[in-house]
Amino acid sequence: MDLSIILTYRCDSKCSMCYIWKYPTKPDEEISKEILEKLPDNFDNLNVTGGEPTLRKDLPEIIDILYPKAKITEISTNGLHTDKILPIVKKYPNIKVRYSLEAIGKKNDLIRGEENGFEEKLKGLKLLKEAGGKDLGFATVIQDDNVNEIMDIYNLCREIGVEMATSTLHNAFQFHKNDNYFYERIKVAKEVEKLIEAMLKTNSVKNWFRAYLNLGLIEKILGHERLIPCTAATDFIFIDPWSNVYACNVRPDLFMGNLEKQSWDEIVYGKKATEIRKKVAECSQNCWMVTTARTAMRNPKLTFLPKSGPLKWVIVNKLKSLLGKKICFERYIDYNIIEKSNNQKKREYFLGIPVKRNIQSKSDQHYSMGDFFNK
Ligand code: SF4
Repeated sequence: MDLSIILTYRCDSKCSMCYIWKYPTKPDEEISKEILEKLPDNFDNLNVTGGEPTLRKDLPEIIDILYPKAKITEISTNGLHTDKILPIVKKYPNIKVRYSLEAIGKKNDLIRGEENGFEEKLKGLKLLKEAGGKDLGFATVIQDDNVNEIMDIYNLCREIGVEMATSTLHNAFQFHKNDNYFYERIKVAKEVEKLIEAMLKTNSVKNWFRAYLNLGLIEKILGHERLIPCTAATDFIFIDPWSNVYACNVRPDLFMGNLEKQSWDEIVYGKKATEIRKKVAECSQNCWMVTTARTAMRNPKLTFLPKSGPLKWVIVNKLKSLLGKKICFERYIDYNIIEKSNNQKKREYFLGIPVKRNIQSKSDQHYSMGDFFNK
């Protein structure tokens, strides 16, 4: 099972496609080390994220608690605080670290509302590499605003020897966003095709399966159904900063329990969990988040192996790539069916613009935006 733990909703970026930063949590109400200690062992991928996780002063101690609990521990950060990550990477060189990067140079800073963000991240990731970090990379949300730079980011990653993780626009309660729409779906999807072809050409097995994950992103971008049904609540769990447990970060109605009041076992193996899994099985959202896409691709019994569908796709298309043949995307994707975006309002940028943040108390009513739309 994979787990995402949102240590805080505080964030010092101001992204256009995620409004977590507008609704920060109070530090003294955020999930405690005592609660984290009680989590079981044996997670596959345990993602420590936010908000911005480095804003937690106790992050090093939190990593000490969580690192032994998972095969892979991952920190997803905006990359503006390498000083906080560096000692962790020196202590745990195998820890997975992903810096969010949306574009090269000022474009990144505009999309993410970060002064000198690009420079900081690039410098920071190089420092982590010099310090012995073994699993480093950038993570990019593919969207209209950066689609012309996707291959530049990929080439930058290759040049400095780090990974490139990709996702795309989603609406979700975690992001306080229900207006993330694509302006030109086909254009965005076609750029992802280039990335898939490039990834298949490498000698990295990880990249070949990422290519499949990116195929799923194309389906998401076009508004099609998921490539593989979602297994949230079974293979993936999400914990918010108030210790609330959810099946995923999209639908707030998939609330499973609270770790301050209940044990992990009560929440994950109780009656309510069974009901939530039924709802997940019937869920009509077409989201393709890395979290629930990666878990859905995994063999449920032997979690280090993929399911037969992704495996077959990778074998066939890697062979094609080796033989210098083009990937027949039309065989997998119906470009004749494109979901219409029902809102064409452009996303706003916040770089240099002062915006009042609405601090959220534990007792406030959260996630009150209603249903989230992911077509
Ligand atoms: S498909 Fe449904 S259950 Fe799965 S992550 Fe998306 S919203 Fe959540």
